[in-house]
Amino acid sequence: MGFNDQLGMANSWYAETATPAPSRPSLTEDREVDLVIVGGGCTGLSAALHAAERGMSVVLLEGGRIGWGASGRNGGQMIPGLRKSAVELREALGLDRARALLDLAFEARSLVLELIARHAIDCDLRLTGHILGAAKASDLRWMEAEAECLGGQMAYPHVEVLSAAQTRAEVATEYHGALVDRLGGHMHPLNYALGMAQAAEAAGAAIFEDSPAMAIGETSAGVEVSVGQLRVRAKQAMLAGDALLHGIDAAVERRIMPVANYLVATAPLADPAAIIAHDQAVSDSRFVVNYYRLSRDGRLIFGGGERYSPDPPADIAAFVRPHLERVFPQLSGVRIDHAWGGLVSITRSRLPHLGRHGEVVFAHGYSGQGVLLSTLAGRLAVEAVCCDVDRFARFASLAPPPFPGGEALRGPLHTMGMLWYALRDRL
Ligand SMILES: Cc1cc2nc3c(=O)[nH]c(=O)nc-3n(C[C@H](O)[C@H](O)[C@H](O)COP(=O)(O)OP(=O)(O)OC[C@H]3O[C@@H](n4cnc5c(N)ncnc54)[C@H](O)[C@@H]3O)c2cc1C
Repeated sequence: MGFNDQLGMANSWYAETATPAPSRPSLTEDREVDLVIVGGGCTGLSAALHAAERGMSVVLLEGGRIGWGASGRNGGQMIPGLRKSAVELREALGLDRARALLDLAFEARSLVLELIARHAIDCDLRLTGHILGAAKASDLRWMEAEAECLGGQMAYPHVEVLSAAQTRAEVATEYHGALVDRLGGHMHPLNYALGMAQAAEAAGAAIFEDSPAMAIGETSAGVEVSVGQLRVRAKQAMLAGDALLHGIDAAVERRIMPVANYLVATAPLADPAAIIAHDQAVSDSRFVVNYYRLSRDGRLIFGGGERYSPDPPADIAAFVRPHLERVFPQLSGVRIDHAWGGLVSITRSRLPHLGRHGEVVFAHGYSGQGVLLSTLAGRLAVEAVCCDVDRFARFASLAPPPFPGGEALRGPLHTMGMLWYALRDRL
C-alpha cells in the first residue's frame, strides 16, 4: 500500500469522482530551491502557490498522491472560525487578542473562495451555511452565549440560534436547537486540492509525488531534505505533513494526536431535501462528532465514530452505519456505496499549531476544522518565510502544549482521555 493510500481512500466517493489529474513524477535528481515543502495537502499546496506567486523557486514533496491525505478525504464541511469557541477564546486571551485571532481565522473562508474563483476550481462549492445541532439541552445555552459574543464583541453577525422546531425544519433529526453560521458551506475537498495543485504548478512550483521525505536537517546555507539518496537543498523548508508526517520531526509531531475518523457515502437518496432541507453542512455538538451533508448527486456523506487505535475496523461501512442510523432512523438499511477513513490531527488546545524552528516553518493540528484553515495556514507560513511574521505570530504565540507521556505513552494516555469524553456524550 502506498504512502497515503491507507484507510480505504481508493474506495472514497471523492476518489471515484475526482477531476482527472496528471500523475506527477517522483523526484529523480538533486534540486536546489528557495523553499522545499513536505506534504501535498491543502497546507502545503497553498504554501507552494503563495510562495511561487511571490517569485520563489519551490519544490513540493508528496510521499503518496496529491490530496490523498486528510485534505482529499474529509467531510468537506467549510466551518468558519476555529474549533475553540469565541467565548472560550475571549476568556483565555482577552477580547483584543481573541478578536485578532478570530478575524484572521475568518479570513480563511474569503481566501478559499477567492482561490476557487481565481483559478476556476470546480469543486462543487455550496455556500449554504453550516448548522451545529445541539445534542443536549444544555448545549443550547452556550450556543446562545456564543452567538451573542460573535455577533457583538467579535463583530461577526452571520450566526443565529435556531429553536428545536426551526432546526427540525432544516434537518430531519432531533436536536434541541442549533447554532447556524450562514457563511458556512461545503465542497468536494479532493477536487479543491487537485485544483490548488494545478494552480501552484501554473505559478511555477514543482510538485513531486511518491517522493517521501525521510529526514530534514539544517546546513550552513539553509536546510536539506532527503528523499532516499536524493537531496533537496533550500534556503527554508516547510513541514505540511499533518497527521502523516511519519517521524521526521519528533518535536513538531508531539504537539498533535492523530485520531482515526470514518465516513460513508450512501446510495443517492430518493428525496435528499427530506433529510437536509437547504443543502447545508451539518455537524453536532457531541464530543465524538457526527457530521454530514449531501453530495451533488444526492448522497448523504456521513462521518461518525472515532477510533483511538491505529487499526481500521475490518468493515468501515458497518462501523459507521449505527451512527448514521441513530441520527436518521428513517434511513435504516440504506445502501452504502462508499466507506473510507482518515487521520484527524488534534492539538491539546484545539487551536492550530504554527511555528518555526530555525529555517523550518510548520503548520498542522487544525483539530477537525482544517478545510478552510489549512489554506490560510499555507499562506501565513509563506508570509513568515518572507519575514512578514505579524499574522503568523498570532497563531505561533499560542503553541499548544505537547501531549504528555512521550512517544510511547502519548497514544494510550490520550485514548483514555478521549474514551472518557466519548462516554460523557452518552450520559
Ligand atoms: C476523516 C476526516 C474528516 C474531516 N472532516 C473535516 C471537515 O468536514 N471540515 C474540516 O474543516 N476539516 C475536516 N477534517 C480536517 C481536515 O481535513 C485537515 O485539517 C486538513 O485537510 C489538513 O490538511 P493538511 O494539508 O495539513 O494535511 P493533509 O491533507 O493530511 O496533507 C498532508 C500530506 O503530507 C504528506 N506527507 C506527510 N509526511 C510526508 C513526508 N515525510 N514526505 C512527503 N509527504 C508527506 C501526506 O501524504 C499528505 O498527503 C477532516 C479530517 C479527516 C481525516
